[in-house]
Amino acid sequence: MDRKSNRDDRSHASRERQRKCYGNRYTLENKTSFASTSSEKLLRLGDREITIDNTHAYRILHLFSVFSTISTLVNCKTCNKDITFKEASSRGLGFKIAVTCECGTAYINSCPLINNAYEINRRIVMVMRLLGIDNEGLNLFCGLMDLAVEFYSQTYYSCLTNIQQASQAVYKILVKHAVDEEKQKTLEKKDSNVNLTVCGDGTWKKRGYSSLYGVTTLAGKYSHKIIDSVVRSSYCKMCEVWKKKAKNEEEFEEWKESHQELCTVNHDGLAGRMEVNSVKEMFERSIAEYGVKYTRYVGDGDSKIFKGILELNPYDVQVKKLECFACYKKYGLTIEECEKEKQRHWRKGPW
Ligand SMILES: [Zn+2]
Ligand SMILES: [Zn+2]
Repeated sequence: MDRKSNRDDRSHASRERQRKCYGNRYTLENKTSFASTSSEKLLRLGDREITIDNTHAYRILHLFSVFSTISTLVNCKTCNKDITFKEASSRGLGFKIAVTCECGTAYINSCPLINNAYEINRRIVMVMRLLGIDNEGLNLFCGLMDLAVEFYSQTYYSCLTNIQQASQAVYKILVKHAVDEEKQKTLEKKDSNVNLTVCGDGTWKKRGYSSLYGVTTLAGKYSHKIIDSVVRSSYCKMCEVWKKKAKNEEEFEEWKESHQELCTVNHDGLAGRMEVNSVKEMFERSIAEYGVKYTRYVGDGDSKIFKGILELNPYDVQVKKLECFACYKKYGLTIEECEKEKQRHWRKGPW
């Protein structure tokens, strides 16, 4: 019963949409210009003061019962006649409430807009991402909740692009501040120069038998903050989808040509090499990215990483390896045991 009336509402809404243009449902959520402009602005200003808007909160409503009740309670302020509420311009979880009386129809957005795109779509995609749920899972969630919406993959991936641009801008600012702080603290400790002491750490997860997804970070000795990171993956969702979709190998190869720039595969090899290669990459770019050299590396049980750094020999001075003295003195641990304990006392330092 509800479902039927819902569908009627929607077809009515789409007729109304034809009269007045609110943009194409496939285009508005897809724009990325606003996020990229905001990202640029954030990066330029390096602003870390975030204003919190207390008026910002969501609730889930049963549209039909809420608005049919409101209809019985209110009249139009101008014509004093009955008002009806219907749904219009729905894209993902966002829509407009079409308020109609004899005067005509007014439209209310169901949520704030980000450059004409519904904010709720960015939010739900980001939240689902944080929970490890993809487009399919999101649609399943909406279906089970009877939210009567579907996220088309184009809308979903455009939301992701926007989120990625925004988070990248915030990440870059935070990392830049962390490097500055580490430089400052290094100088305060009367280290003769601002060459930094860093410690690398990696974590990854296996998908299937051969696919890997991992992140490797470098943390500063004195700030204990992450100053650089590398994400590597030997897995690409789009490649997997197209491999199934393509009729033959040729068709897949043809598609792959056009996909190169978007492909998330940037590691092709053994798991053990992932962390080594990532640390090397960060040493290699330290001068260009942050104008610093990492001349001391706090080592752990895994000597492959330090060997990798020595092979690379990225600076005009040789990188030295420091052992984790804190573990040895305080806890009487071996370096291998220290690696296990590191998570526990990492924040407290010193090494
Ligand atoms: Zn009216
Ligand atoms: Zn790919």
